[in-house]
Amino acid sequence: MHRTSRFRAVIFDNLINFRLKSINMKNLLLLFSLICLISCNDANQSTQDYVQEDSEKNTKNDSVQNFGIVIHGGAGTILKENMSDSLEQAYKDKLEEAIKTGHEILANGGTALEAVQRTINVMEDSPLFNAGKGAVFTNEGKNELDSSIMDGKTLNAGAAAGVTNVRNPINLAYEVMTNSEHVLLSGKGAEEFAKEQGLEIVDPEYFYTENRFKAMERARERAKEKSNKTAFYDPFVKDEKFGTVGCAALDKNGNLAAGTSTGGMSNKKYNRIGDAPIIGAGTYANNKTVAISSTGWGEYFIRGVVAYDISAMMEYKRVSLKEATHEVIQNKQPELGGSGGIIAIDNKGNVSMEFNTAGMYRATMNANGDLEIGIYEE
Ligand code: ASP
Repeated sequence: MHRTSRFRAVIFDNLINFRLKSINMKNLLLLFSLICLISCNDANQSTQDYVQEDSEKNTKNDSVQNFGIVIHGGAGTILKENMSDSLEQAYKDKLEEAIKTGHEILANGGTALEAVQRTINVMEDSPLFNAGKGAVFTNEGKNELDSSIMDGKTLNAGAAAGVTNVRNPINLAYEVMTNSEHVLLSGKGAEEFAKEQGLEIVDPEYFYTENRFKAMERARERAKEKSNKTAFYDPFVKDEKFGTVGCAALDKNGNLAAGTSTGGMSNKKYNRIGDAPIIGAGTYANNKTVAISSTGWGEYFIRGVVAYDISAMMEYKRVSLKEATHEVIQNKQPELGGSGGIIAIDNKGNVSMEFNTAGMYRATMNANGDLEIGIYEE
């Protein structure tokens, strides 16, 4: 029997006994205490959640309604020695612009869902990231975009895979969630739906960037030396693809949301779809626990059901966000062979930016306006 029901049954038995006894002062006091116990127990149940306090990163401030936001712009072999000062500054500026966009929405009482979408739009419109404008190329020289979004309050979710002409795929994921009966649409059908919803459709040429095209050509050349089965898992290819974008946010109403948008992996074939549009792998949000966006080698993130695994560890094992993200990214994923990272915010505003690669473009901002931007391992 559930703990609460068992508790109620014991109390009920006591009340029955009570009726059979004579009414005196002692029994009246007993009745009063039993009624108090029932109401306290119910109050405890309704406020119970699954998040452990994490004092180090807890952004909670009693004088301010708590909220927060965290983003990533992809994880991979991002090394300081390979980065020019101006490129590093360009990444930092764009991360700051993106996170401030979402932070302002949250500070003004906007929803976590809106903050996630608008923040991701900023990164999708930049050629710096492997999403929207800066998407990587497939083996056939095309761009096939994946995205997803999830609402932690309702567990509603929307996703799109393999679209070639939608300027902002995260907006398509949002439309799938709010204006369709489905969770995941793909290819031509998804593009038709995007058009029907009035989203901005662009010529596929819009996604052309010289450096991403050259990266794909390098990966394609290199893949020729390998068998069809091992080419995709070549670490060289892995390093050509980082830059997926994602965002997780907690709004002033205590609602969580997360979203992810990507071009996938460079030189991908056969309409390959990664973890980004897979709810539970690339994106997950649940008000009971946490909102998460993943980035990394999608095949491993799908197999590890990474985002949901972190939430489940928090819900079932009652571990903190920090412990859950560390276990999944530093232990479980490497054991499987996976590399990458996640950004996450729990329902108390604790933030995690965990990665097992040399770097991850990332930023976070709390209710007090404290901004933290990072690229390399610190
Ligand atoms: N996870 C993405 C994918 O596998 C790529 C990335 O995050 O860099 O499609």
